[in-house]
Amino acid sequence: MKELLRKLSNASGVSGFEDQVRELMINELNGLVDDLEVDNMGNLIAVKKGKPEGKKVMLAAHMDEIGLMVRYIDKEGFIKFSKIGGINDQMLLNQEVCIHTPQGVVRGVIGSKPPHRMKTSEKKKVIEYKNMFIDIGASTKEEAEELVNVGNPITIRQEFSELGPQLVKGKALDNRVGCAVLVEVMKRARSDATIYGVGTVQEEVGLKGARTSAFRINPDLALALDVTIAGDHPGIKEEEAPAKTGKGPCIILTDASGRGLITHPQVKELLIQVAEEENIPYQLEVSEGGTTDATAIHLTREGIPTGVISPASRYIHTPVSVVNIKDVEMVVELILAVLKRV
Ligand SMILES: [Zn+2]
Repeated sequence: MKELLRKLSNASGVSGFEDQVRELMINELNGLVDDLEVDNMGNLIAVKKGKPEGKKVMLAAHMDEIGLMVRYIDKEGFIKFSKIGGINDQMLLNQEVCIHTPQGVVRGVIGSKPPHRMKTSEKKKVIEYKNMFIDIGASTKEEAEELVNVGNPITIRQEFSELGPQLVKGKALDNRVGCAVLVEVMKRARSDATIYGVGTVQEEVGLKGARTSAFRINPDLALALDVTIAGDHPGIKEEEAPAKTGKGPCIILTDASGRGLITHPQVKELLIQVAEEENIPYQLEVSEGGTTDATAIHLTREGIPTGVISPASRYIHTPVSVVNIKDVEMVVELILAVLKRV
């Protein structure tokens, strides 16, 4: 599981450019599922057939990650960029980046005005991304354009590694954790239901792949596999983010204060009951923050009973996040147990 997560975390897949992640998942699942297909949007749909009279279950994990995009190259060869997805500007400063071009990866660093030359008032302010730039070592626009082009996606450079006995750190654990869970579940699933494992595209920029794939599959039940915010570290009160790493899967009851998903009562009951019976520790979450693919899926066609299962992750939507590998394994066990009973 850890090795799979390592490969997925190190792969790059800014929204709309999920190719590397998709390829990795195809390689993992090839020959182990009944059908593997990539749809018009770029969603990967893996199918494991159940009984003909069985239900249809959709599992969705978004393959994309937040990132940047080359927007403009100035005459000195410095690159101005756009943000793709929800990125906090102060997380970007002085990060090392990889610019993905058809010819390969070009390394760069995000620069800005040196602190020594800032006025006192400037030092206290968050530097906006518009005042940052990427330095790739080029000295003219022409030289830069030989290496990169407007529209190339950009990821933050960050190697996956272990952090203590149970934690791991890396980039894009939101949502390569969900992708790893999906791959593992699709390999091992036994169910009367037909399981549609979908690696979705463009979640971070509007839940787009989930919307179109759910319409096509029209499942009887759907589960989004994602990560949620862990608050078990300094700087945040327990009541603000009660979920903890190492305490088992979070079953999401409501997100975005109900504007995202309000979990279908039967789905909530099923998930809790299975966790209790299988002695899998779990945490219940009511969140006021972000949403997941479930938000788009549950509003498909005439409405689809949908839930979300997520391990808690520290520092999501920053260049480095942290999860407990035991939580990820418990999410897999919980979903496998749920699928047996559908
Ligand atoms: Zn996510």
